[in-house]
Amino acid sequence: MNPWLFLALALTAIALSLWVPRLRLRRALAAPFPAAWEEILRRNIEVSRSLPAPLAARLRMLVKQFLLEKHFTGAGGLEVTDEIRVTIAAEACMLILNRPGGVYPGLRYIIVYPSAFVVRREARDEAGVVDLAPHGLLGESWRNGKVILAWDSVLNGSRNFVDGRNVVLHEFAHQLDAEDGSVNGAPLLAGERSYRSWAAVFSEEFAELQRDTRRGRESLFDHYGATNPAEFFAVATETFFEKPEQMAQHHAELFAALRSYYRVDPREWIRRSP
Ligand SMILES: [Zn+2]
Repeated sequence: MNPWLFLALALTAIALSLWVPRLRLRRALAAPFPAAWEEILRRNIEVSRSLPAPLAARLRMLVKQFLLEKHFTGAGGLEVTDEIRVTIAAEACMLILNRPGGVYPGLRYIIVYPSAFVVRREARDEAGVVDLAPHGLLGESWRNGKVILAWDSVLNGSRNFVDGRNVVLHEFAHQLDAEDGSVNGAPLLAGERSYRSWAAVFSEEFAELQRDTRRGRESLFDHYGATNPAEFFAVATETFFEKPEQMAQHHAELFAALRSYYRVDPREWIRRSP
């Protein structure tokens, strides 16, 4: 083939591969939010009714983009419906309502089981024996662009936005944590000073939750957050969105750190009882 013709074809292919997804996104965002999706939000995303108008509009734009870009797969016999897709997308997008940086650009696949799923994990005992231990899970976030969820837990969490437990917020907080390349409880922040103050606030609160957990004392945070700093960030995120008043009152510095990270203050949203 003529090398000039080859070059022209290659450049055209590159231009199309960049242009077509942008065009599809622009079209999807310009389309009205479907009435059926609106009904799903009304029914399943209790908090969406309490958002101020600009955030409510933003949520709908983010959901449209999320559903265009992410692939959903049912597992364990589950058939993926619009209700499942819209509910998960809306919950996930609550975390990025006011954040720059796109709609989870590293995420491609969402796998949904009907209920708690069992995975087999390698676990080393003290003698170094590797065991394949089965665990029942409600959700899992992978760094290779995958989130796995149990639909019954998703629905319970989305219909009750005040109990501090929400598997979608939890797993998608792990996705945000992974944006800087490591899942360690410190997501991508603005600069070195931000990391220093983040580390100071989070390590103190993490140590306190570990003490409470060891001593069997109650905490505003789920004791699962004492597992490691990454779990603490995910659990603190659930608490920040679902119990903002208590968190601001009793864990003011941590609340302020998360408010500046997520760029929203969930206390401003009218709280309704479940
Ligand atoms: Zn977790």
